[in-house]
Amino acid sequence: MVDERRVRSLNDRPVGIGPVVYWMQRDQRVNDNWALLYAKEQAEMRKVPLVVLFNLEIISHRANLRQYDFMLRGLAEVSLSLEKLSIPFFLLEGVCAESVTAFVKKYKIGEVVTDFSPLHYARLRRVSVSQTLPVRVTEVDAHNIIPCWMASDKEEFAAYTFRPKVHRTLSTYLTEFPTLKANRFTFEAIPKAVDIDFLLKKLPLDRTILPVTNITPGTKSAEKCLKSFLKERLETYHIDRNDPTKNGVSGLSPYLHFGQLSAQRVAIEVSKVKIAPKEAREAYLEELVVRRELADNYCFYNKAYDTVAGAHAWAQKSISEHVRDEREYLYSKEDLEQGRTHDDLWNAMQQQMVQDGKMHGWCRMYWAKKILEWTPNTQTAIDIALYLNDAYELDGNDPNGVTGVMWSICGVHDRAWGNRAVFGKIRYMNYAGAKRKFDIKSYIERYNAKNTLFK
Ligand code: FAD
Repeated sequence: MVDERRVRSLNDRPVGIGPVVYWMQRDQRVNDNWALLYAKEQAEMRKVPLVVLFNLEIISHRANLRQYDFMLRGLAEVSLSLEKLSIPFFLLEGVCAESVTAFVKKYKIGEVVTDFSPLHYARLRRVSVSQTLPVRVTEVDAHNIIPCWMASDKEEFAAYTFRPKVHRTLSTYLTEFPTLKANRFTFEAIPKAVDIDFLLKKLPLDRTILPVTNITPGTKSAEKCLKSFLKERLETYHIDRNDPTKNGVSGLSPYLHFGQLSAQRVAIEVSKVKIAPKEAREAYLEELVVRRELADNYCFYNKAYDTVAGAHAWAQKSISEHVRDEREYLYSKEDLEQGRTHDDLWNAMQQQMVQDGKMHGWCRMYWAKKILEWTPNTQTAIDIALYLNDAYELDGNDPNGVTGVMWSICGVHDRAWGNRAVFGKIRYMNYAGAKRKFDIKSYIERYNAKNTLFK
């Protein structure tokens, strides 16, 4: 049975007698998916078929070829895996409140189950659909190991306030997943096969941001990536993870972002590798569980999560005191996007993001802090950092990105540091510090040698 603490009602409508729909959004996988398992449980209980829907609602400033190619190829795999379990998968298009509602009405669906995301656009979709539908809609947090609303009942101040709460309850949630069983009852309609190439040609996507070739989409590739991390890199994660010239991190964030892999599965597998030192396992679980779930906590409880108003009081005060500080360098969004700054290290980081679709984690902090330093004010810095992050990173448009940008630019989850020009009390990072940390020359050479950004 799926733990009821993972489940929340989105409306108070009755359950009908028809099939159950799992409206898949954030958790785009078949295995290890609590939302799908819960929907299946409901269907079994009422002896009706389970159907899975995914709706493509294009938000123009977020939709580009790189991210849609990755997502749709993952969904094609989902469709095939579900087919083997006789669970039909329908790919709809249009505004969710219209297309999901029309589907539910057409097929006299009895109940809708969906997954959870704390981001504004996902909440709006859930609210609009659950208010329109005449049947019960429930959400299941299938992304966090500890359901977001159970981990804490308020916005956490920092990792040190959240960590003890996580450690107190983690073991009760970090359980093995049951296996998803095949549909026993037949749905009345047969879905069309997912034609990715047709969709990629047809959809109104930004075609200037191309798919990457270095990260292959889908659950099978995610599992391969996890296996190679466990075998080759976990052991030294605590030593190598902050060196952008080494392949020391897991590389799983695109898969986790699209839900092609479950974070809970990763945590279970990491915990089993007893050959890896305890420090390595703990350092990894700190990022995967504490930091990742803290990001969901921030976006869930802070309605102003991507604005200066979302920052701590000390940070807002400091930002307002430095609003008129003169900036030594000022760059436009276009300058930054094309890596045209005086800082060769920053340009190389921008190039890594544009070229590889994934910037190293340590670089992301430096990269965002320099945007604060080189733009006219803090809100402009947040907007540009999120625009670039969410357009080019395969793991973009995620609470982790919002929180990472807000940590770097507004001190969210951080503490006040010494006062200085422009940054105020927000933690500062500089070129000399990066130089001490890793071999910046080889990093710069690697990325700036093939700078494709200048147009
Ligand atoms: P690993 O080091 O292998 O970590 C494993 C997993 O832990 C990651 O996949 C991620 O899910 C989680 N994790 C790691 N670091 C963090 C962190 N600081 N905060 C929250 N969770 C973390 N992460 C995204 O997933 N999407 C983003 O758009 C994103 N944008 C960022 C922007 C900025 C400015 C900053 C400072 C950080 C951002 N991060 C983002 C967080 C972090 O940099 C990435 O999660 C990490 O680099 C992903 O690579 P990995 O999977 O190889 O990480």
